[in-house]
Amino acid sequence: MASAPADLLRQRGIQVTAQRLAVLRAVAGQPHITADAVAEAVRAEIGAISLQSVYDALGVLVAEGLIRRIQPAGSPARFEDRVGDNHHHLICRICGRVVDVDCAVGSAPCLTAVDDMGYEIDEAEVAYWGRCLDCLAESRAPSRPDPPTRRRQQRIARTEGPTIPSTNRKENPPD
Ligand SMILES: [Zn+2]
Ligand SMILES: [Zn+2]
Repeated sequence: MASAPADLLRQRGIQVTAQRLAVLRAVAGQPHITADAVAEAVRAEIGAISLQSVYDALGVLVAEGLIRRIQPAGSPARFEDRVGDNHHHLICRICGRVVDVDCAVGSAPCLTAVDDMGYEIDEAEVAYWGRCLDCLAESRAPSRPDPPTRRRQQRIARTEGPTIPSTNRKENPPD
């Protein structure tokens, strides 16, 4: 974030409060942070704040375009201060880690739908789902139980028989 948080708020005509500043700093300090984690960070900084106040502050900042809200399927909402660039996300199915990935080509080509059906499109949200490096490494390590989540795109080499212990199963690493 280039400008000071207080200036950002003032520029948008948002009343500057300690809570909003702390919320903004929490989001800036930890991309893709959840509201719960924001509340924790804010409490550490300025003391007691209700979760509702955190949600209210997040809502104002999102509405004013200072932060962006994403909500991957099966995850609580997450907030980031990298806004306006139509970037996308890599999301780990196993641990839920979210990282930024730039738009595939150019600045925001994904905004150009083949047929916009008359909608005024302002955002294209792309989530690349898979497994992060850590979870891949864990899934390859011996004598670890299989991760709980299974999705169709994971290729699993199944050994014959219905009751093979999970530790005897092997997974094919991606090529
Ligand atoms: Zn992971
Ligand atoms: Zn992001």
